[in-house]
Amino acid sequence: MRKFSPLACVFVFLFFLPSCFVSPPAEESSFLAMDTLVSLSAEGRDAKETLSRIEDRIKLIDGAILSAHRPDSEISRLNSSGSAPLSPELYGWLETSLEIQKKSSGAFDISLGKIKLLWEDAGKNQSLPLPKAFESLISGGLQLSDGKISGLDNRLLDLGAVGKGIACDEAGKILQNSRCARAVVSVGGSILLYGGGNFKVGIRHPEKGAQEIIGVLETYGAFVSTSGSYERGVEIGGAWYPHIFDPKTGYPPENGLVSVTVRAGSGLVSDALSTACFVLGAEGSAPLLKFYGAQAIFINDKKEIYTSEELAPYFALEDNAYSVFILK
Ligand code: ADP
Ligand code: MG
Repeated sequence: MRKFSPLACVFVFLFFLPSCFVSPPAEESSFLAMDTLVSLSAEGRDAKETLSRIEDRIKLIDGAILSAHRPDSEISRLNSSGSAPLSPELYGWLETSLEIQKKSSGAFDISLGKIKLLWEDAGKNQSLPLPKAFESLISGGLQLSDGKISGLDNRLLDLGAVGKGIACDEAGKILQNSRCARAVVSVGGSILLYGGGNFKVGIRHPEKGAQEIIGVLETYGAFVSTSGSYERGVEIGGAWYPHIFDPKTGYPPENGLVSVTVRAGSGLVSDALSTACFVLGAEGSAPLLKFYGAQAIFINDKKEIYTSEELAPYFALEDNAYSVFILK
């Protein structure tokens, strides 16, 4: 088994294109934001300034808009007031998130904040919540109109499933206005592979340490996100309950999936779809993936890997105890 060092669950290796001039060395930086490690690398004349602009922007949208921990972030203010005028940025992200919610038939839901808190308490108290604890939390829905959001009376916004992807989208906009030819932006389980040529992405082994990979996906520049049951969650009475919930029950889905990796043309979409597909399962995800022009790799607890047809020729398995199947 090969070993790689970065902490994130998806690892990226850059293969720079051959060029007839000596290109400047890649700039790298890392910092903490969005409850995770953010790693940046870029190649180009203004790489250093570009990385610093990306860092400022990610820290800004985390602190001022998305953070659930900071009482003065836009999300926290919305959650405490129930309704408030929205910034144009947040409005746009909520609009796309609610579209994904609809297209996934409710498997994706950005208003599960109370369910998340209930599971955090369950972990602290070591007591498994009964289905009736979720009854009042699984009905209702959000609506956006006239620049405002409604439907938050019994719900809390939780953008945990899209924040990291949004950070990758924002980084992408900055890179487009830079002179960087290639860059990699890694925000926890969401990654932007920017520029021409191919990139190799190592996908974390679901049963082994954070530094072990199960296979390598070769891809053109795109956004790639992974949601894994090993990533975050609570242990109650020796059983593991991952941090992804089926909005129809309040419990983690019981479909045997341990990780889902999605490639898409937008960070928000790849991040949201990795969570949504985790709930929907490999077969049930096909229409959603198709609608967004996205592809996925599903890994289950029977050592089976199901990949979208487009990704299959570019996925190299590294652990022969697993079998790869192609989703038609
Ligand atoms: P990570 O945060 O590790 O990158 P994900 O992108 O899959 O993982 O997001 C998981 C987070 O999304 C959870 O911590 C929770 O905040 C939120 N969440 C859980 N279940 C759902 C769901 N069905 N739809 C939308 N968001 C969810
Ligand atoms: Mg996600």
